[in-house]
Amino acid sequence: MTTEISKPGNGLWGLLTKPLHLRFPSLFTPLWTESPFEVRRRDSRLMFLAPIGALMGLIGGLMGATGPGVPAIVFVPVATLAGVAVMYLAAHIETFLRIQGGADLGNRALLAEISIDMFGGGVVATMVATLAGGDIAAGAAVGASMVGIFGWMRRIFWGSWIDDTIRLLAGDGRPADGPDYSTEHGLIGEGRFSDAVESFRAKSRERQGHAGPLVEAARLMRDRGQYESAMDLFVEALNDPTLDGRRASAFARQIWELADGPLSQPDLAIPHLESVVERFDETPEVEWIWKELTIGMSSDALVDDFGASSSRVPAVRAVEKILSEAFVASASDIHLEDYPEGLRVRYRIDGMLQDAEAPPSRIRAAVLARVRVMGGLNPSEHPTPRDARIRVPFAGRDVDIRMSTVPTLHGESIALRILDTEGGLLTLTDLGLPRQDIESLMRIARRPNGMILTTGPGGSGKSTTLHAVIRELSTGREKIFTVEDPVEYTLEGVCQVSVNPRAGMTFASSLRSLVRQDPDVLLIGEIRDQETAEIAMHASLTGHLVLSTLHTTDATSSLHRLVEMGVEDYMVVHTLEASIAQRLVRRVCAHCAEETELDAHTIAAFGNIEDTPTRAMVGAGCDRCRNTGYSGRIGLFEMLWMNQDMRNGFLDRVSREELREIATANGTRTLRSDGIDKIRQGITTPLEVLRVTTA
Ligand SMILES: [Zn+2]
Repeated sequence: MTTEISKPGNGLWGLLTKPLHLRFPSLFTPLWTESPFEVRRRDSRLMFLAPIGALMGLIGGLMGATGPGVPAIVFVPVATLAGVAVMYLAAHIETFLRIQGGADLGNRALLAEISIDMFGGGVVATMVATLAGGDIAAGAAVGASMVGIFGWMRRIFWGSWIDDTIRLLAGDGRPADGPDYSTEHGLIGEGRFSDAVESFRAKSRERQGHAGPLVEAARLMRDRGQYESAMDLFVEALNDPTLDGRRASAFARQIWELADGPLSQPDLAIPHLESVVERFDETPEVEWIWKELTIGMSSDALVDDFGASSSRVPAVRAVEKILSEAFVASASDIHLEDYPEGLRVRYRIDGMLQDAEAPPSRIRAAVLARVRVMGGLNPSEHPTPRDARIRVPFAGRDVDIRMSTVPTLHGESIALRILDTEGGLLTLTDLGLPRQDIESLMRIARRPNGMILTTGPGGSGKSTTLHAVIRELSTGREKIFTVEDPVEYTLEGVCQVSVNPRAGMTFASSLRSLVRQDPDVLLIGEIRDQETAEIAMHASLTGHLVLSTLHTTDATSSLHRLVEMGVEDYMVVHTLEASIAQRLVRRVCAHCAEETELDAHTIAAFGNIEDTPTRAMVGAGCDRCRNTGYSGRIGLFEMLWMNQDMRNGFLDRVSREELREIATANGTRTLRSDGIDKIRQGITTPLEVLRVTTA
């Protein structure tokens, strides 16, 4: 058995004594760490009082010695011994209090030990005091010291036979009020451990699986170094249907300490800890188990050190694996869904959900809890819809993750949006804008006022395009403001504001204050309502370049959409300079692309366009693209430049069809024809283009 040096706790007491802990660790070491009952005390508050007791005894002795009557040669040693006695008593009192507080310290045995010390010390003290013929005070002082002396001597000289006596008194042998374990003790005495264990098991079965005999057996096995057997017995004890959370937690603690300590296989304990948590999820006693399972309390250093982790806790490892694989695969989202069959893990890569390897079903609760802990949420509370932020170091940088959790029929669904600051740094060329369009766009963007809109459904890369425009614009001379919901990518030299409707920060209210700061460029995450639209229009008329997005399917529809929101049509024609519809398609994987003949069905799906391609590059699927045949994404664009024809047509209220014809006449190419161009260049496939351009 090892000597344990206690650690300072987290409370006020721990804080106050921390310097002493560090400087004089031995002060906090229990007086005796070996006991037949293996009392393991992790922090000993009253032990701290022990040296103080000794000191007080010594000082009291010296003071007494200077007074009349008793010679120093008698008083000083007696008082010192009294101090030692205080130390010893303090240890006992502490143990007693802990037992009262519910600690599982082999209760009855320790109480018996205390009684024996008191009794032995008392008898000897009375004898000595009487023989000396002294008065009551002297007798009491001598008596107190004798308790201590007796305790020490008992430990040092008569340990074994007194321990046996204690065992008997404590009921380990033949107690009056409990089952008789003498047969088993006999078997253990003969070294027949497995027979003894079987006998204990039989007694437990007699009592409908009662934990008592099993725990008794487990302790005995543990004390004799039979750790595996001890752990098995504690595990069996957990099956007792009458267990309460406190006892289950105590058994779980034993299992954990055995697996983590002498057996050095913490994994063995995990399923048992999890089953305790599941069974007693409302019980405060099992909270430590949650922490152990989800943060790995025993390995403090690993909590914040995700990048270089070597955590042994399976749930921690599983979450690390899920995250790092998602980062490597450039996933934008991770979805963790709890089903009765187990946890489902999916990555969204290039806009498409793909199944990923799920952790073993037995640790799924711990995996979800671990993610909640990383997001600063309470892992053990019942799931409610919550949002949180997680930041994890990966490959030398920090990756921000926006987490949201919602309870589902079977448990909970956690979505993690990976806000990779570097993944957002794409240029307009990267995004797939043709060179001449980039030039026209930037010409408009460099004007001091006007409005540029990008349109498309959610996830079509609208904001990414506007961010690329801003990066191209930003020279450090402009004041650039963005209002986003939320800010996903940080842009250097740009003031970014996240809207927070719950705190009253809507697009409209944020904009009103931002316009007062007179920015040169204003990026509005989305125009959703009349109020926002009007502020945006007004700003673009009064010397601000406004960039924003709209939810419309094609470029010309944005004009009508703004009017539907309640904006006057003359405002629209005075402010809008360009409207860009866009979609994202997946790029063909460069490592497995093969030229393929298109079937008649696909060609027909493109309709009656004369330049429909008949051949295209298609990815066959390889390791680099996770067998999808695609890797990365690129935009399809429909660029609408406002000119006099468009403005007149719009103000004359021509039909949408006619307006589209005017746009086409002015050189606007549809999303589909941009897509056909990109099929011809071998960048994407017909299936992808059809997917995003079929209404
Ligand atoms: Zn491939």
